[in-house]
Amino acid sequence: MWTLRVFAAALALMAAIMVVAGVFSLPPQDRPFAKLNLEDPIGAFTASRIAALRRDADACLALAALSKLEVAPIPDLRERGFCRLENAVTLTRSAHPYSRPTRLSCALAAALYVWEREVVAEAARTHLRATVARIETLGSYSCRRVYGGAEGRVSFHATGEAIDVSGFRLADGRLVSIRRDWGSKSAEGQFLRAVRDGGCRVFRAVLSPEYNAAHADHFHLDVGDYTICR
Ligand SMILES: [Zn+2]
Repeated sequence: MWTLRVFAAALALMAAIMVVAGVFSLPPQDRPFAKLNLEDPIGAFTASRIAALRRDADACLALAALSKLEVAPIPDLRERGFCRLENAVTLTRSAHPYSRPTRLSCALAAALYVWEREVVAEAARTHLRATVARIETLGSYSCRRVYGGAEGRVSFHATGEAIDVSGFRLADGRLVSIRRDWGSKSAEGQFLRAVRDGGCRVFRAVLSPEYNAAHADHFHLDVGDYTICR
């Protein structure tokens, strides 16, 4: 009887050691208690760690400083009673330039940087054998409610936590347009699908033309409250 108990205890101990060793042999982005590093590949905890930066602007700025992402803080802003930019930044340098200046939360800047480097650049190599020269954006901060109505839920654009991307200008001059190329079987269409699907591993919400007609010409990417990928 005792031999059996000792044997069972030894087995349990071995199993525990294997679990602990297994966790520590994982790369940091897949380890439950490791810290976010914006230069790491995307892992099991990347999206939740980026989302946690929403509540900790100082930690977000510190992370940016450790990476090649460059952001500059901008003054707080309040408009129309329901729009507020707090601890927001402008993108000084992300992995790619943007077609217009952007005002956004640091958490969204961090998410964009990871997405551009790990998803967009990679998908451009794989599907288009090209590099992306510029991200075409329709804007990030915008004081409005969802779909621009007078009532209803406040958009995550109104807190700088969302950005709309309409396409990608490639280094060889080609433009991949979401309005034109989404849903196509072409290399451009496959690139856009890979960029959307990969975005779902980084952002909270990714809305593509598949979601509804209001998104026929852009991807809506946000680090807001709701998880949706469509
Ligand atoms: Zn949007």
